[in-house]
Amino acid sequence: TAGLMKGKRGIILGVANNRSIAWGIAKACADAGAELAMTYQGDALRKRVEPLASELGAYVVGHCDVTDPDTMDAVFAEVEKRWGKIDFMVHAIAFSDKDELTGRYVDTSRENFNRSMEISVYSLTALAQRAEKIMNDGGSIVTLTYYGAEKVMPHYNVMGVAKAALEASVRYLAVDLGDRGIRVNAVSAGPIKTLAASGIGDFRYILKWNEYNSPLKRTVTIDEVGESALYLLSDLSRAVTGEVHHVDSGYHTIGMKSVDAPDI
Ligand code: NAD
Repeated sequence: TAGLMKGKRGIILGVANNRSIAWGIAKACADAGAELAMTYQGDALRKRVEPLASELGAYVVGHCDVTDPDTMDAVFAEVEKRWGKIDFMVHAIAFSDKDELTGRYVDTSRENFNRSMEISVYSLTALAQRAEKIMNDGGSIVTLTYYGAEKVMPHYNVMGVAKAALEASVRYLAVDLGDRGIRVNAVSAGPIKTLAASGIGDFRYILKWNEYNSPLKRTVTIDEVGESALYLLSDLSRAVTGEVHHVDSGYHTIGMKSVDAPDI
C-alpha cells in the first residue's frame, strides 16, 4: 500500500487505545503515506492517544465529545487553519450504557436510547456537516458498524437499532454528498475485543461463536479492518459509495451454525 495515500490528509475520531479499531485504521493509513489528525475524548484518553499519535507522526487536534457541538466546531476550525482542507474522515464512535447491553432490548430506557442514538448515529451526520465544508476536492468518509444492525444478536440491543440507523445514514449521506465527490461508506467489522466491546454481555462467547462458525473459521483483527477501511478511504474505491462492506471472516453469509462446530 506504500504511497497509496500520499498527499492525502484526514481526521480520525475514535482512538481510545492500541486496541481501538480506529487505531488499526490509523496505522493502515499512515503506512500508506497519509497525514493524520487525531482527536481524543476527555483527558483520561488524551494520555493514551498522544503517544500513539506520535508513533505515526500524527497530529493531535484536541478533545472532541460528539455530544458537545462546540468541541466538534473547534476541531474542524483547527484542522482547517492548519491544512486548509481534508481528504478523508474516519468515524469510529459508539456508546451505550453497558447495563443495557445485556438482557432484553424491550427494557431499553428512553434516556439511554436517546443518548446511544446521539453518540452512535447522529454524530456521523454532525461530523459530516463539518467535514463537507473542508473536503474541497471531494473526499471519503468511513464509519464502523456491526452485523447486529441486520440481525438480532444477543445483548447488542439498542446498539443494533443504532447501527441500523447508522447504516441508513450512510446511504442518505452518500446521496447528499455525492455531487461534491464525497463518498460515504461503512465497514461492518466482526467482533473484536476492544474497550467498547467489553461492555457487551457474553462477549467472549460471541467471539468464539464467530471463530467456529464463520467461513474463514477465525475472528478478525484491527489491522485487517484497518486495511479494508484503507481501500474505502483511498482512490481504489473511487466509484464506491453508500456501501456497507463486511470485514467479518464472511460470518454474515452463513444461515446456520457449522455442523462440525465444537461446543463453546
Ligand atoms: P473503542 O472503545 O476503542 O472505541 C470507541 C470510541 O468511541 C472511543 O475512542 C471513545 O472515546 C469514543 N466515544 C464514545 N463516546 C464518545 C463521545 N461522546 N464523543 C466522542 N467520542 C466518543 O472500541 P471500538 O470497538 O474500536 O469501537 C469503534 C467503533 O467500531 C464503534 O462504532 C463500534 O460500535 C464499532 N464496532 C466495533 C466492533 C467490535 O467488536 N469491537 C465490531 C463492529 C463495529
